Amino acid sequence: SLSDRLTGALKDLRGKGRLSPADIDATARQIRLALLEADVALPVVRGFVARIKERAKGAEVSAALNPAQQVVKIVNEELVGILGGQTRRLQFAKTPPTVIMLAGLQGSGKTTLAGKLALWLREQGHTPLLVACDLQRPGAVSQLQIVGERAGAAVFAPHPGTSVGGAGGVPITVDDPVLVARAGIDEARRKQYDVLIVDTAGRLGIDAELMGQAAAIRDAVSPDEILFVLDAMVGQDAVATAEAFRDGVGFTGVVLTKLDGDARGGAALSVREVTGTPIMFASSGEKLEDFDVFHPDRMAGRILGMGDVLTLIEQAEQVYDEQQAEEAARKIGTGELTLEDFLEQMMAIRKMGPIGNLLGMLPGAGQMKEALAQVDDRQLDRVQAIIRGMTPAERANPKIINASRRLRIANGSGVSVSEVNQLVDRFFEARKMMAQMGRQMGLPGARRNNA
Ligand code: GDP
Ligand code: MG
Repeated sequence: SLSDRLTGALKDLRGKGRLSPADIDATARQIRLALLEADVALPVVRGFVARIKERAKGAEVSAALNPAQQVVKIVNEELVGILGGQTRRLQFAKTPPTVIMLAGLQGSGKTTLAGKLALWLREQGHTPLLVACDLQRPGAVSQLQIVGERAGAAVFAPHPGTSVGGAGGVPITVDDPVLVARAGIDEARRKQYDVLIVDTAGRLGIDAELMGQAAAIRDAVSPDEILFVLDAMVGQDAVATAEAFRDGVGFTGVVLTKLDGDARGGAALSVREVTGTPIMFASSGEKLEDFDVFHPDRMAGRILGMGDVLTLIEQAEQVYDEQQAEEAARKIGTGELTLEDFLEQMMAIRKMGPIGNLLGMLPGAGQMKEALAQVDDRQLDRVQAIIRGMTPAERANPKIINASRRLRIANGSGVSVSEVNQLVDRFFEARKMMAQMGRQMGLPGARRNNA
């Protein structure tokens, strides 16, 4: 995986400072290989790696993560940003029916998607109508009918060769997908379906006639959305296919299918980068339920082949936080706790959410926890402001905070002197109590009471 590669490339670097230019180059080579392995198109790889290099230059080497983990984290964030930067919801028409047209190569999963989308829309209270505009292949219409039935959605599919009432009651012969599409809109208006899903024909390859037909259907129904359906397994072909559909038909969103396969998902990044169109949905199986809105974070992990690496990174960061908490607990035990520690702990706690949720977060710091639990978040803001108004010397050694210092701190942080007094008094009390408790509980570093 990318993480293994980077661990190899960066094994000598640990600790403080920034990644060196040589480290960044080594890193960039590994990212490049990982992306190419995931079938990301070469020009896209180049641009992406250049951006990562730029970001890595500015990144501090973190104490919690080794450099390899840190680079993985940056790469992941960048990927998620690109894949999800423009995530958006389906665009519904102001006046129904909303028209969603599906386009893509044969076998990409359009007809299956029509059913998935219909079920998904029905679950949200919509009344979709599927329109069978693939009249190319025998069986395509009945496939849509089966899918529609499973999804509990109506299907507009006149038998080829028969005539149905067209616009204004003029009968049409149903072997022209453009006419079927148009009649589908009339049907939706008549029977008050609010979303039309137009299934179209595909070809095995990019083909002028196919594009011409899709463009003609598009012009006939003026879709609110054209979804380009792309088999994620196609790998390097994704870019050429997407460009052909972009130029031939145009599309407003991308749906990736067959994500249950073993494709590494490079197609997602390529198509997103090359067309600038958001990936909206993901299909991951043959069943109608195997369908979801697109999740950029999952796709990023897949592209990088990282599996649980990101979880490991999160754990590493968490362990680091715990080490800090243990250090605080040690200081509590020895009575060395400063207001600086107090502030740090408070900030760490507040990062994690409202104060009430946080009992149990600080190993061994039970007393401080209780002291903090008694104040609400707004009071904490004031406490924080007071401590920030102190000099480093005052925070490290609160004993020096005399009357004139208290007045200065109060003025500087916009509170009354009595509030400063309260905080300092409470701090000393808490520290004393905590040191006692620490001895009783055998906190690390706590001095035994010889008495
Ligand atoms: P169309 O030609 O674009 O309409 O493609 P279909 O909807 O007929 O799908 C082609 C084949 O791919 C069918 O056998 C589907 O069951 C299958 N298929 C579609 N989507 C998925 C998917 O997400 N995962 C898997 N495993 N198979 C899929
Ligand atoms: Mg089909």
